[in-house]
Amino acid sequence: MATQRRLSIFTRSVHGGHAPRDPHAVVPAAPPIVPTVGYVHPSMESSDHALGSPGGDSAHPLDFVYARGGAQTQVLLEDAIAHLEESEGALSFASGMAAIHAAILACVPAGGVIVAAEQLYGVTRSLLDWLVGAMGMQVHYVDVFNLDQVQEAVTRLAPAAVMCEVLTNPLARVVRVDRVAEIAREAGAHLIVDNTFATPFLIHPLSCGASLVVHSATKFLNGHGDVLGGVVAGPANLLQVVRGHRKLLGSNLGPFEAWLALRGMRTFAVRMRQACLNARQVAAWLDDNERVETLFYPGLSSDPHHEDARDLFRRNNFGAMLAFRLRDAGRAEVFSFIERLQLILPVTSLGDVTTLISHPATASHRGLTPEARDALGVTENTVRMSIGIEDANDLIADLEQALKL
Ligand code: PLP
Repeated sequence: MATQRRLSIFTRSVHGGHAPRDPHAVVPAAPPIVPTVGYVHPSMESSDHALGSPGGDSAHPLDFVYARGGAQTQVLLEDAIAHLEESEGALSFASGMAAIHAAILACVPAGGVIVAAEQLYGVTRSLLDWLVGAMGMQVHYVDVFNLDQVQEAVTRLAPAAVMCEVLTNPLARVVRVDRVAEIAREAGAHLIVDNTFATPFLIHPLSCGASLVVHSATKFLNGHGDVLGGVVAGPANLLQVVRGHRKLLGSNLGPFEAWLALRGMRTFAVRMRQACLNARQVAAWLDDNERVETLFYPGLSSDPHHEDARDLFRRNNFGAMLAFRLRDAGRAEVFSFIERLQLILPVTSLGDVTTLISHPATASHRGLTPEARDALGVTENTVRMSIGIEDANDLIADLEQALKL
């Protein structure tokens, strides 16, 4: 994508990740799937040069040697993601968890300290806890909405990295990543931000001061619920370290998955625009429904996170995630409400073209004790919705019939 003008995210979604034009060759207009593991070089000198390039075989087409170092289709996806996140580069992984693992390894040495949001995705917390035993890391959890607490922990512990999400799971609360970044920067700590829920449609965490951005590409980036993948985006110097870890661990994304994700990303911005509009309409309807005890959606002006969302997010977009509590309901009532839904699918994922609903207490937050869930506001009567791109009126009609007693 050779242009000096700053392109809209709608244009960037479509134009990133194409093979560069070549004045001496005909190139395919759609990205190719290249399933090769090895690359044949014109000479041993060229292969020797590629193997000796920084980080081993790398993103430059002439530096491909062996697919664990980098490969053609994956690099096109990585280029597309770098355009979306406005980063110097990006690297793809076999899952979001593999990407998060590599980002942590790049920022935190064995025995190093991490200050992490207690509101992180449950499996990310499990990974951090596992790294404590496996690598002697020290993890200190903070309430990321209490910036004094973040500041105090960072000043006292001088961590190698701070870690948080932009929109939290499952209650879609807005983290002031700009302020967390300032606290981390002043202490010389890296900030790793998981942008899976908010996506580059709402915010570019790198421009707020994050060192690395991670994603479960399984979700909104791919958008079709048919690829498990992850990405790390950021500056070239840190990505070189991430690449080195990926090469050792072999946690690379395969070429077929990379191609599917790239294909899904072509419609990223239009999907997000529609999903954000739908979420707003569904939230407004839920807000008026007497069976809804509490609604969590930062797009409502009555939501306590609305002002922060307005400050941080792309104008008038508040994401496609929301959660609500059913009035006077326990697990049985919530289960039967979910089972009555006909369009909205009970799937423990998010970011698909289809609207999905889940019960965090038995799904994403199952591993926590009931007390820990309560402390995070994940009660038995809480459901989480990931809004898709259907007609919002059809979603509302489905909710209406399922909520009727
Ligand atoms: N980060 C967040 C916020 C998630 O919700 C998830 C999965 O749900 C992950 C990371 C992990 O991604 P994956 O399932 O692709 O490994």
